[in-house]
Amino acid sequence: MPNKSTTSEPGAVPTEAAAAPEMSARKIYDIVKYGDPVLEKPAATIRKFDAELEQLVEDMFASMYAANGVGLAAPQIGKSIRLTVIDVSNGKNTEAKIVLVNPEIIHAEGEVREEEGCLSIPGFRGYVVRPQFVTVRAHNIKGETFEIRGEYLLGRAFCHEIDHLNGVLFLQHLSMLKRDLIRRKIKKLRKEGEW
Ligand code: ZN
Repeated sequence: MPNKSTTSEPGAVPTEAAAAPEMSARKIYDIVKYGDPVLEKPAATIRKFDAELEQLVEDMFASMYAANGVGLAAPQIGKSIRLTVIDVSNGKNTEAKIVLVNPEIIHAEGEVREEEGCLSIPGFRGYVVRPQFVTVRAHNIKGETFEIRGEYLLGRAFCHEIDHLNGVLFLQHLSMLKRDLIRRKIKKLRKEGEW
């Protein structure tokens, strides 16, 4: 998910990156855009919890911050595995960093309709109904099971990112009319070489 305040705080991301020197060594992945089949197929369960996975997680955080996002799923960097990183504080609070490996929603409650976007569908947004409260069960980076509860933006991020791991994009939650409109515009952009 992209950060909502993209335009209001242009200086926020470079400042954060400069404050964390280890980030300069990280690999910044290109974000895969809508149209790539990797975004629309279910991702594979992760069974190996090793240093390589830890590295990938840190690279994904760096890539997400570089793209000014609050959530990034592995398929969005072309890796079809069930891994997502989330930070709804957008790098402002290190304790807000959440890593979900093989996550599943085990409880959802309420409904909130809010505008949503996606780093893989830049420039397009739409209103999506999501649960108000969401409980997720997942593995941490070491392979231990844990549960985490999120509400509003965090709950929305959980739903959005777990959707990615199931090959589902927010477009699928829009009305057919709105979805077709966005698809047509993207098709046009692609034809013009701008997608
Ligand atoms: Zn997304």
